[in-house]
Amino acid sequence: MSVKKNIDEILNNLPEQVKLVAVSKTKPNELILEAYNNGYKVFGENKVQEISRKYEELPKDIEWHMIGHLQSNKVKYIAPFVSLIHAVDSFKLLKTINNEALKNNRTINFLFQMHIAKEESKFGFSFEEIEKIIQSSEFKELKNVNLIGFMGMATNTDNGKTIKDEFKYINDCLKTTKQKYFKDKDDFKELSIGMSGDYKIAIEQGSTIIRLGSIIFGERNHVK
Ligand SMILES: *Cc1c(COP(=O)(O)O)cnc(C)c1O
Repeated sequence: MSVKKNIDEILNNLPEQVKLVAVSKTKPNELILEAYNNGYKVFGENKVQEISRKYEELPKDIEWHMIGHLQSNKVKYIAPFVSLIHAVDSFKLLKTINNEALKNNRTINFLFQMHIAKEESKFGFSFEEIEKIIQSSEFKELKNVNLIGFMGMATNTDNGKTIKDEFKYINDCLKTTKQKYFKDKDDFKELSIGMSGDYKIAIEQGSTIIRLGSIIFGERNHVK
């Protein structure tokens, strides 16, 4: 298995508006460096401790994406360096990110996570909840966070139609939001949808960021 070959193959077939985040969770630094040494520098992790450790140990020009569920009390560890937080799923979390960004004298880009799957267990907002937040004055007061789009995970199923419908729905929500609230905000346009099993459908449905793990690095150890 070659990480370089896997990444090259994906990049070769990627439309230019789509960004690849290589999801390196549970994978050792050597595999990340294999991609890095071949010019690839955008990685995603889902655990605060792991992303912080890898940030410390690996080259500083890596762009680190926090893709997993994030607890408010851990934001401080990633606030100095994180490039994009994909899964903002509560207003409390967003306020904390804003505070920690302010302490670090920076603005942190983020996505609202939308619940689009049928499974109960997944995190995320409904579209109604997102609209309520966007319209609130408390939201408008947060000057050190910058909303650039939405993130979602489709139902874990072999049914392509279900996945397609869920991705289409989140894209429709993004377009509606753009039209209603952010017409003149050029950087509000990102749709983080698509994992190893469904990224082709995601791209057809307007993905601008795909998050690929196993297809690049091989299957993960599922011991937790
Ligand atoms: C692990 C993970 C991925 C990557 O999953 P693969 O199926 O291995 O591509 C994408 N997004 C999130 C939020 C993840 O936790």
